[in-house]
Amino acid sequence: RVVSLVATASMNHSHSALPATKTATFNADRETGKLLVFKDLLKDGGETAIRQLCADAGLDSTRTDLFDNWLLTAAGLRLYLDGEQAIEFTYAQLRGMLAIPKPPRTIDPSKPMIALTFDDGPSQNTSHILDLLEEYDVRATFFVVGNRVSSYADTAKRAVALGNEIGIHTWEHAKLTVLQPEEIASQITRTADAVKEYAGGTCAAVRPPGGACDDTVKQVAGQLGYILVNWSIDTLDWKTRNAKKIFKSVKSVKNLDGKIVLMHSIHDETAEATEKIIPWLQK
Ligand code: ZN
Repeated sequence: RVVSLVATASMNHSHSALPATKTATFNADRETGKLLVFKDLLKDGGETAIRQLCADAGLDSTRTDLFDNWLLTAAGLRLYLDGEQAIEFTYAQLRGMLAIPKPPRTIDPSKPMIALTFDDGPSQNTSHILDLLEEYDVRATFFVVGNRVSSYADTAKRAVALGNEIGIHTWEHAKLTVLQPEEIASQITRTADAVKEYAGGTCAAVRPPGGACDDTVKQVAGQLGYILVNWSIDTLDWKTRNAKKIFKSVKSVKNLDGKIVLMHSIHDETAEATEKIIPWLQK
């Protein structure tokens, strides 16, 4: 998303044995075509933090030309100081300091894919899961219980803002197969309305609580324009409440391509297991 160029000029003077070198950098946002200045890149407090990194590296952190010539490399941020002299900080060192425009997300359908789904939230544990999704640049689907959405509106909004999908897990975790068609419809539409109102998201899928589904449920959901989605890997996280066992339930599956993993966003242990599951799957 960001293109960085560095130009170096070397000048020979008749009165000096060594050439004088001058460096200039240019950075542009490919999406907008605009040249970037260093402050475009900074999160709140980012400049102070980077000046501190410079001080730690033995530089005079008060100098005014620190950020005159900078560029982004594959590994991190490079600051050109005097001539060709440069100092580089890795993205890991710069965590929380830079807001780098990300490339638009693309999915390569020829690569293996797996869907992570989290039911029964939102809850106080959902934020932890969202932190992980954000950190690893992963999207998941949250099948939410409608009557919880307004209480965790900020969490639900953040889930949408991060590009996650919000699905419907009924208004009150109702077993749909014992309800009348109009009750099924109400369980679905009330939840979709709450997601729209409090999270600003649109729902496309319904996961029936307990996976309980019959022809009536399918028909009602279909008429309302929703698809039904159950799962192919049940982590049993609600039962074991054990991060190691939850991780193992995914790790032990032979062919993960195309699988849908069922988890619940209301348990600490599930968030803990997700810390392990995501990097393992990415690897
Ligand atoms: Zn559920």
